[in-house]
Amino acid sequence: MQGLTGQMEFTVAIDGPAASGKGTIARALADRFGFAYLDTGLLYRAVAAKGGDPVQAALGLTADDLARDDLRSLAAGQSASRVAAIPQVRAALTAFQRHFARSAGGAVLDGRDIGTVICPMAEVKLYVTSSAEVRAERRWRELGGDLGQVLAEVRERDARDMGRADAPLRPADDAIVIDTTDLTIEQAVAMAAAAVTARFPERTIP
Ligand code: C5P
Repeated sequence: MQGLTGQMEFTVAIDGPAASGKGTIARALADRFGFAYLDTGLLYRAVAAKGGDPVQAALGLTADDLARDDLRSLAAGQSASRVAAIPQVRAALTAFQRHFARSAGGAVLDGRDIGTVICPMAEVKLYVTSSAEVRAERRWRELGGDLGQVLAEVRERDARDMGRADAPLRPADDAIVIDTTDLTIEQAVAMAAAAVTARFPERTIP
């Protein structure tokens, strides 16, 4: 786990469908253990928002593109899942994510293919999921709109992300599955933190 700089390298890969709670868990682990955090969904959202040829957009992605304030909407999520099905877009974003995963001091990345494709050697792999109904309700509370339509969009995005040929959403064989349907945020974070501590007792927070 020692990198070239002598600093510890440790990767937590978190995958799961939209609004499963993976982002909340990822941020909590980053805070608690001092890991760098990358929301990889933002990369695909930014590629789609840039417009034009998505492959060129992915190759030329900048920090400014990721700082746009219109990336969190339902529509941006839908467009992201369309460009995310293009293998050349995924390929253009791979090296950046792998490099980030080996950040000195440890890193947590959340997305759809982190444990399966980007970081198959990650020290900890989590698959965070919950029922489509619960996820739709969470998104609806956050963003408003029509609940029935939000549920339909959640299902459509699940189907596209799980059904694509390149890097479909699925749990890695050795992922720990956390189903947050009947869990509070605190309970879900505690399960995730326990998985990190089990692999990395030196980092246990008192
Ligand atoms: O996680 P988020 O909802 O921001 O992701 C937006 C879309 O980007 C997803 O629906 C998925 O199609 C795509 N994505 C992906 N691989 C990742 C992260 C996101 O394909 N690692």
